[in-house]
Amino acid sequence: MTADKPAKPVAQRRFKADVRKVLDLVVGSLYTHQEIFLRELISNASDALEKLRFEAVQNEDLYEGDGDLKIRVEYDAEAATLSVSDNGIGMSDEEIAMHLGTIAGSGTRHLLESMKQGGDAPELIGRFGVGFYAAFMVADRVVVESRRAGFSREQGVRWSSKGEGGYSLEALDRPKHGTRVTLHIKKVAEEFLDGTRLRGIVHRYSDHVGFPIFIAMDKGSREAQVNQGTALWTRPKQELNEREYHEFYRHLSHNLDTPLCHVHSRVEGKVEYTCLLYIPSEPPLLPHEQQQHHNVKLYVHRVFIMDRAADFLPPWLRFVCGIVDAGGLPLNISRETLQVNREVEAIRQGCTRKVLEMLRRTASKDAGQYAKFWRAFGTVLKEGALEESPHRDDVIDLLRFHSTREDRDEPRVSLKDYTERMQAAQQELYCLTADDLQTARHSPHLEMFKEQDLEVLLMTDAIDEWLVMRMPEYQGKKLRLLTHGELEIPGQDNAMPPSDSGLAGRIATQLGDAVSAVRMSARMRESASCLVYGDHDPSSRMRRMLAANGRTLPHAAPVLELNPNHALIQQAEQLDTDESLADIARLLLDQAHLSEGTLPADPTGFVQAVNRLLLARSTGSD
Ligand code: ADP
Ligand code: MG
Repeated sequence: MTADKPAKPVAQRRFKADVRKVLDLVVGSLYTHQEIFLRELISNASDALEKLRFEAVQNEDLYEGDGDLKIRVEYDAEAATLSVSDNGIGMSDEEIAMHLGTIAGSGTRHLLESMKQGGDAPELIGRFGVGFYAAFMVADRVVVESRRAGFSREQGVRWSSKGEGGYSLEALDRPKHGTRVTLHIKKVAEEFLDGTRLRGIVHRYSDHVGFPIFIAMDKGSREAQVNQGTALWTRPKQELNEREYHEFYRHLSHNLDTPLCHVHSRVEGKVEYTCLLYIPSEPPLLPHEQQQHHNVKLYVHRVFIMDRAADFLPPWLRFVCGIVDAGGLPLNISRETLQVNREVEAIRQGCTRKVLEMLRRTASKDAGQYAKFWRAFGTVLKEGALEESPHRDDVIDLLRFHSTREDRDEPRVSLKDYTERMQAAQQELYCLTADDLQTARHSPHLEMFKEQDLEVLLMTDAIDEWLVMRMPEYQGKKLRLLTHGELEIPGQDNAMPPSDSGLAGRIATQLGDAVSAVRMSARMRESASCLVYGDHDPSSRMRRMLAANGRTLPHAAPVLELNPNHALIQQAEQLDTDESLADIARLLLDQAHLSEGTLPADPTGFVQAVNRLLLARSTGSD
């Protein structure tokens, strides 16, 4: 025990508002897996040991006394205390106030944001762990004693709090660097003052931790190492079971889901490295996380170097989580030098290939599982099909779409499936984009395709129109948006239906520059009109989405196509005054917009025109 000089002043501090919010949540929590507090404390101890090992690369003097980095869990049933200590990097008094008085950890920050969005508390605690503050689920007082490595023994610090409004800080004489967190266990949490229980928890959550964890069984008894104590990825695959892989994933990702799949591989040769990469089973809780870099940590010979080392995977694999241990990189490599390192480039290609292979294997082995992946991360992966890269073809094979041939909720059709069953004379792969599946399935553009039994891929992501336009040919066949350009259907009479009394021209005059042209078309059966865009023009759906992001594009009016066999068109041909044609013309345009899910340019004007026509009909039929 440390000899504490009684005369040292004690400072009282208030927690920052955010910390109080987290504490309120944690202290009153009904979360049933309270045991995760131990996982969080051990994970912090392990981080602290990793940091020390990293800093000691530059400064060997930081290791004092016993160089054995380890974590120790001790408990005293009589005194109702439980402590977790490490001989890691420790904290100075400033650091302790900063890290345990404000919200420092990213996991906890995410938790706060989800709280603001009204998430369910126990569920959120489970999801994020809440780091250090999880201790207050089981303790009514927590004392942290610490000393920063490299500081002198009088520069130790004691932090103490009941988890209410604030904490106290005092100086402490601490012979060794590192941290000890002591929990004064609540009456209701006494179950944790039990060696067998504690061993079970460590096994369950922390077996993979790369430092030995010792538990001292009650007073005086000998301590015993509970975990393997070697970094999980350095162990041979055959020795590891699914549970261990999953727990390690949870530790890395701060999530509680079970990963969908993983790849663990040691690469030997010119560039040597080990990677262990996971695909999560759930999309991130917060949408903005999708924008972030993937969560791949870089190690060099088991020494932790940096988080989110963005260079090991392309942005379109940013949902991947894992580690790369690259033995050949210098320990003092920085983010900047990482970007220009040749070895890193080789590792990046290797890791990318491995992830894509793993996805391909999942897709061919278990379509249901792959559909789950696709639902969570398909939109991100699609970006890889837009980009020139050696992996582009592999990404394209992994794409899945809805189709007029299938009525599943999940997109399951690959381009390979499509081409294998397409009609012999078919030269193009037909695609239709829409806001949602319902809108797509009822689109006027599909009517002729349904009749001809031609399969059409249905796409509903924001990125899809862009994707189809930019995608290279697939097996020598182009992808074709039904809404863009004039259609040439093989084996069909593609000639424009014979027109008319000049109706198209008269309607065009009525609509002015809202359309670039009006023409009769063969593509509809039940609908009267639809919109068609120039080959490289964005659809109005695309314009709408860009506008929502503050981008407007130069005006390019669509073509309005009319169905000459529709009763409405035939009736319109009979109208002799242009005045009576005005409302019909606008309705034909507006309903074409509506069937795409776009509001008419003047919704009220649209309603008035409908009313005028309804009234004219009822008075006319009197
Ligand atoms: P996170 O681990 O996600 O950063 P925590 O709430 O678990 O969030 O911890 C907050 C911070 O407190 C850590 O980032 C670290 O700086 C500091 N800390 C906690 N425990 C220790 C420890 N045992 N040794 C050194 N620093 C620690
Ligand atoms: Mg933590």
